[in-house]
Amino acid sequence: MSKVLIIEDEVAIAELEKDYLELSGFEVEIENTGDVGLERALKEEFDMFILDLMLPGVDGFEICKKIREVKNTPILMVSAKKDDIDKIRGLGLGADDYITKPFSPSELVARVKAHLARYERLIGSNMAENDTIEIRGIKIDKTARRVWVNDEEKPFTTKEFDLLVFLAQNPNHVFTKEELFKEIWDMESIGDIATVTVHIKKLREKIEMNTAKPQYIETIWGVGYRFRL
Ligand code: CA
Repeated sequence: MSKVLIIEDEVAIAELEKDYLELSGFEVEIENTGDVGLERALKEEFDMFILDLMLPGVDGFEICKKIREVKNTPILMVSAKKDDIDKIRGLGLGADDYITKPFSPSELVARVKAHLARYERLIGSNMAENDTIEIRGIKIDKTARRVWVNDEEKPFTTKEFDLLVFLAQNPNHVFTKEELFKEIWDMESIGDIATVTVHIKKLREKIEMNTAKPQYIETIWGVGYRFRL
């Protein structure tokens, strides 16, 4: 569930925002002063901030600036004056959106939803870039430990997955069965290097179009195996 922090000194407005966001399935917390709001925004994990501009103590300008120094979490600024919106834009504080009081609660909810969706897509695409190996038709998500062959997901056991990742991360390198056994099974296994042969066979059944003519994991006779790039 997405968690939203509202920093707003007008209690009635904060409660109204909270009610509508909770009806839409968000988890919502309120802080009525800038000081505590800022402290929590920096220390705790939230998915979005709704930030009133005029606050006692630290104001919304300062809070926005401080959050942006360390976090990319979406910020929706709320102001009572239209002029302030221009000021926020002009200052380039890094707020994602602006809304002027009075606003309709459904408008607020729609904006929060849109920013959260955009932010989640952004995080999602960054993760895929960092932790995915793609070689021709094979896609390996190392973080989620999932594998797709020509867009179809295939199930892999722990050792099959480890072996596939090791080979795919070291393409065009020939490994002997002994080397692969040592790398993947190490000392924990009661098996022997025949285990490697069995696992290579299983991998081929899952990733190769034709196991008799492997396109990915090649056998180098008398030596071992090589993942073709
Ligand atoms: Ca205020």
